[in-house]
Amino acid sequence: MLMRIINYTNVCVAQCDYCAFYKLPSQEGGYVLTQAQVFAKLDELLALGGDLAAFNGGFNPHLPLSYYCELFSAIRARYGDKLEFYALTIAEFLYLADHARLTLAQAAQQLKDAGVRWITGGGSEILTEDFRKRHAKFKYTVAEYFDAQRAILEAGLRTTATMVIGFDETIDERLEHLERTRAFQDKVLAEIPGTRGLESFLCWTYKPYFTQIGGIEISTAEYLRHLALSRIYLDNIPRMRTSVLTQNERALEGLLYGADDFDLPIEDEVTQKAGATISLDFEKILNYARTLGFEPTYRSVAAASKL
Ligand code: SF4
Repeated sequence: MLMRIINYTNVCVAQCDYCAFYKLPSQEGGYVLTQAQVFAKLDELLALGGDLAAFNGGFNPHLPLSYYCELFSAIRARYGDKLEFYALTIAEFLYLADHARLTLAQAAQQLKDAGVRWITGGGSEILTEDFRKRHAKFKYTVAEYFDAQRAILEAGLRTTATMVIGFDETIDERLEHLERTRAFQDKVLAEIPGTRGLESFLCWTYKPYFTQIGGIEISTAEYLRHLALSRIYLDNIPRMRTSVLTQNERALEGLLYGADDFDLPIEDEVTQKAGATISLDFEKILNYARTLGFEPTYRSVAAASKL
């Protein structure tokens, strides 16, 4: 997949201590993208041959639900099925529903009516209550995270599972994250008629530069071992993605460790602010997969989304 993450606002009140991206509402440097700016980014993505955008911003108290609904319906009206978009992460969805004083089901329905098909599992980082108390106490509990994901599936929207490793989490916390994800998938597949549940799992690594807590990046070898463990553990999730965004071309080694899917990102301010580097030399990255014995195939997300 060729994709771009659109960071529509960097204003956020959650104050996660591992984040180098956000500005508080009163701080200088905060921004909100206009529809025209979002369209320009989408046009550029299409021109490069990509067809997947993912929206990820902050918990911005000045943005009402109507900002999102108008933006997403305008995108559907302008682009139709030419591109697909992941509208928001579970964490932003929770904030939005909370802020608009809607139930999760009502908020999911409003987004669906605005043309949204996907809300990703982003904002999960490490799904243990302890981890969240240590680092992201305003970013909702694990129980709330899964309630929101369930509401999304019940509304007939599609979603994914994510994870970020390399903070100060223990091995037990990593296992708890996998266990909770696996149990959630079993439950929703059994209880929600017709759902596909979590359609993929994407794990990436924490980038520590310019964050409050700092730290040292974990090695690619550790990332790959975790990918292999996740592939074995999450045997009820069909697709496993490896993260070019945080591992560059070495992410492709993940294909030897159980991954079968990856995207080439052209932008993500959140991880770039914390030290991620993005290359637009797609052939160089794909050639690395070829030297490992794989033949990468382009996957059109827009076409698959209509199924
Ligand atoms: S990680 Fe997301 S929710 Fe947390 S402070 Fe950064 S932008 Fe806000």
